[in-house]
Amino acid sequence: MSKLIDKLSDTVRGRVITASDPDYDDARAVYNAMHDRKPRAIVQCMDSADVMAAVAAGRDGGLDVAIRGGGHSVPGFGTLDDGLVIDLSKMNNVQVDPNKKVACVGGGATWGDTDHATYPFGLAAPGGIISTTGVGGLTLGGGIGYLTRSLGLSVDNLLSADVVLADGRQVTASHYQNEDLFWALRGGGGNFGVVTNFEFQLHEVGDIVGGPLFYEFEDAAAVLQGYREYIAQAPEQLGCFFGWQIAPPLPFIPENRVGDLFCVLVTCWNGPHEEAEKVLKPLRDVAEVKAEYFEVMPFPALNSLFDDAVPKGMQHYWKADFITELTDQAIAAHIVHGEKTPHISSSMHLHPINGAAQRVGADETAFGHRDKNFSPVIAGIWDDPADNEANIRWVKDYYEAIHPHSGSDGGYVNFMSSDDEHRVAANYGANHERLTAVKAKYDPDNVFHINQNIFPAKG
Ligand SMILES: Cc1cc2nc3c(=O)[nH]c(=O)nc-3n(C[C@H](O)[C@H](O)[C@H](O)COP(=O)(O)OP(=O)(O)OC[C@H]3O[C@@H](n4cnc5c(N)ncnc54)[C@H](O)[C@@H]3O)c2cc1C
Repeated sequence: MSKLIDKLSDTVRGRVITASDPDYDDARAVYNAMHDRKPRAIVQCMDSADVMAAVAAGRDGGLDVAIRGGGHSVPGFGTLDDGLVIDLSKMNNVQVDPNKKVACVGGGATWGDTDHATYPFGLAAPGGIISTTGVGGLTLGGGIGYLTRSLGLSVDNLLSADVVLADGRQVTASHYQNEDLFWALRGGGGNFGVVTNFEFQLHEVGDIVGGPLFYEFEDAAAVLQGYREYIAQAPEQLGCFFGWQIAPPLPFIPENRVGDLFCVLVTCWNGPHEEAEKVLKPLRDVAEVKAEYFEVMPFPALNSLFDDAVPKGMQHYWKADFITELTDQAIAAHIVHGEKTPHISSSMHLHPINGAAQRVGADETAFGHRDKNFSPVIAGIWDDPADNEANIRWVKDYYEAIHPHSGSDGGYVNFMSSDDEHRVAANYGANHERLTAVKAKYDPDNVFHINQNIFPAKG
């Protein structure tokens, strides 16, 4: 086996890091510290040729292969024991064509890399809410964030992708070439190959008006009900998700309220600045806002506002659903379990996915739940492994309480933990069968299986 690794080291331009390397511990660490895995080697790819060599080495050497973009996968899909990690983090170059409003984004770039490159042109591609998350994993699962209501999911803005397939070839997938692959990539995760380059349609997003509004926990029912009504028909340039938040020590939080549990609405108005207050008024009217940080700011500033709250190296356990109706019973269950939010970094976020994302047909991309209005995630995040049991229990109890009100078995693949793999078919709904056929065509031996795995259809 060491011969294979030696040969790979001779072939690629990036580093091949094994257990004897002083940088091994750094190179193997992923964002969710629960996944303390020991790969045989981590290949820090510099370009497509390195990726092609790494895929071939894994396949020919009979090694399992994990693909790592930004490393944020909660189930730890960016690492593994005893196999090969194809680490794309050095492939984070982003090139912007401001005339065509298009960006070419390296397969290992983060959303921070992308925002940094597009903002000077007054442009952005729709991503998530944290800048350290990888473009790769987030996009391939769908991509839900501040701009979803007006511009759709990240996949809805993908123009093409360069993909290294299981057989080692690189192909381009788009509306014009390998259309079946392009369809599957837009929601089907890392099941179909290693994306070395994403081409995104950009949109005019410069300085936005946004930030969090804090309401008393006791007003949660009014806030959730008012939010539910308003977000169903609010102007689409308003992104706004609901969450629980234990107040951190920040300048806009009254000192005597630090550590108290609040409910928050985190807003992003990408319309005329002078209209921001008018658009926000219905949300201000649902209950008294006790603290806020609502300002004009560069979009990249909003997209990185919460980065420090969720640094690398914490413990994560998440669960998720899709929902059409946020019923009063569901709201009651949210409040019972929201009140027990165990850690300042933990929350339940309720992301709206109505608007532009719903104008794409359910069978147009692999992300099939286009009739759903919300994508809730119960995100258990804490620092001390000694607290794992209690925190995981909180997530599971919360989930069991709200799931019966969801009206759907599926959830967003990117918000799931590894013990949710039995839900993969439900996560794709009617699109699952077609995904298994595309998988059989492009990865019949399931080389890429360290993911929410779609099995290749049989013969
Ligand atoms: C703090 C935090 C905030 C988040 N916020 C959001 C959010 O706002 N919106 C949202 O939609 N999701 C969000 N997520 C979920 C996120 O989309 C997933 O965790 C996603 O998998 C992260 O992608 P990554 O590249 O960083 O992860 P990685 O761990 O690097 O990759 C995860 C998996 O994605 C696949 N993959 C990654 N890159 C590639 C590539 N180039 N080619 C092929 N396959 C690839 C592989 O299967 C890989 O195993 C968040 C996660 C965290 C931890």
